[in-house]
Amino acid sequence: MRGRFAPSPTGQMHIGNARTALLAWLQVRSAGGTMLLRMEDIDTARSRPHLADQILTEMAWLGLDWDEGPDRGGPAGPYRQSERSDWYRTVISRLEEAGCLYRCYCSRSELNRLASAPHGLTGETVYPGTCRSLTPAEAALRKAAGREPALRFRVPEETIAFDDLVAGRVAFNPADAPGDFVIFRADGVFAYQLAVVADDAAMGITHVLRGDDLLDSTPRQILLYRALGWTPPVWAHVPLLVGPDGRRFAKREGALSLAWLRGRGVRPEALVGFLAFLSGLLPSPEPVRPTDLIAAFDVGKLPRAAARVEPALLEALAG
Ligand SMILES: [Zn+2]
Repeated sequence: MRGRFAPSPTGQMHIGNARTALLAWLQVRSAGGTMLLRMEDIDTARSRPHLADQILTEMAWLGLDWDEGPDRGGPAGPYRQSERSDWYRTVISRLEEAGCLYRCYCSRSELNRLASAPHGLTGETVYPGTCRSLTPAEAALRKAAGREPALRFRVPEETIAFDDLVAGRVAFNPADAPGDFVIFRADGVFAYQLAVVADDAAMGITHVLRGDDLLDSTPRQILLYRALGWTPPVWAHVPLLVGPDGRRFAKREGALSLAWLRGRGVRPEALVGFLAFLSGLLPSPEPVRPTDLIAAFDVGKLPRAAARVEPALLEALAG
């Protein structure tokens, strides 16, 4: 087994990220596998090097270790997405050769005007396929207008199903939403869907445990694996932590960041116990080290419902 934790250094690490890291680590360690840490800093305009350093520090503070990563190296490196552009370009040329991509010249305002209301499940707008079959003359006209194209993946009309270790059998049709999706943005940034598939495949990842906000990305990623002739990993999508209002924790809610908790003198064992309790791994939020949770861990027994963080519990944690 090879698993990974892949944070984006675009904000402070909060308790939801810490829980995903803990569960991904437990899945790998309970199977005697290899743990990777990959820094998803592909959007260089939003990523901050000091936040990347802080994530490594806070992972270690929690008691989570990794066998391969940006600070330790390893056979599948580099482990920072900002250093892997050559590989993404190679993957894009393979997709182009396979006829899976086309150039999209739509501007953001055009897309907003054309798209239907955001789809209920994904919250994303649906691309109406405007540039799917531009004639060379039409494309030349748009190019002459100075538009930089994005690259879109041609999504077939087909229901994609897979078995998730936590969510169970999942099926939906990515042609309904979001439709043909971007893999290379007009501003020159490689899209998340492309980078995550290119990296998980190249790094030999066999198991991916992540938040279920990415569940609806998975059928798109399966299409990429298929187009590239690669074997997808086994996924486990865990329900997110939500606040008392039922909304999920956003990265920028500073009060729930690890930095804030550490600043209040919270011990890592207390936080790990709190996260383990919220994940159904402990009957009460007792202080515990991650290593103490390995023996009893079973990914199949993780709760399928979102875990609500009640204010009283948080107050007890933060003192
Ligand atoms: Zn377009």
